[in-house]
Amino acid sequence: MVVMSIAQNLSTIHQAINQAAKAAGREPEAVSLLAVSKTFGPDVVITAADAGQTAFGENYVQEAIDKIAAVQSLRPDLHLEWHFIGPIQSNKTRNIAEHFDWVHAIDREKIAQRLSDQRPATLAPLYVCLQVNVSGEASKSGVAPEDLLPLAQAVAAMPNLKLRGLMAIPEPAENIAQQRQPFAVMRKLQQQLHAAGIITDTLSMGMSADMAAAIAEDATIVRIGSAIFGKRDYAN
Ligand SMILES: *Cc1c(COP(=O)(O)O)cnc(C)c1O
Repeated sequence: MVVMSIAQNLSTIHQAINQAAKAAGREPEAVSLLAVSKTFGPDVVITAADAGQTAFGENYVQEAIDKIAAVQSLRPDLHLEWHFIGPIQSNKTRNIAEHFDWVHAIDREKIAQRLSDQRPATLAPLYVCLQVNVSGEASKSGVAPEDLLPLAQAVAAMPNLKLRGLMAIPEPAENIAQQRQPFAVMRKLQQQLHAAGIITDTLSMGMSADMAAAIAEDATIVRIGSAIFGKRDYAN
């Protein structure tokens, strides 16, 4: 039964988060769980919401907007938080600015400026993270660490955005020690921003396969999909 297993999976993940946080000497409440619901329908989101999950991550704009509308019409009592975690094309910024609470993968000033310009005045500022390319050549998305500070300064000054922190998707690694290396770089980059007067409170890092390593390096949001909802079928 899908319904049971989503609730069970959420509880298993919360236990794993608690364990990883305690092992790192951190408060478990300092780590929040973003349920990545891409490719799964509104019914699945509602099942997770009824099990207590409130924050959902999506990668594809049109799919997400249809899903958000469907959930709102089926269950107007639910107050969910929607995070856009995919790469952002400039022709999609308006829909993102109008329908999401958070955006995780900003890596260009131009995209940030469009999101700020297009954020409706009736909504709270859009919470944003800057995606950093901590795997070098291996990844094409994310700002290079040496270009992070000027981007952060520009975004922090945009009126309808609130810069919350940094996000990364490192290359897969063999073991937890190797997984921790890029996450440690992220923690240090956040400290460097802090030293430059840009205070943020979020490190969005860690997925189903490397969550414990990310929490050991101060992740505050882990983005978990398959470990909650099962394997994705992209044909849907
Ligand atoms: C799909 C996705 C996730 C979730 O990945 P899982 O391996 O299913 O946990 C997390 N972050 C981003 C940016 C994603 O695109």
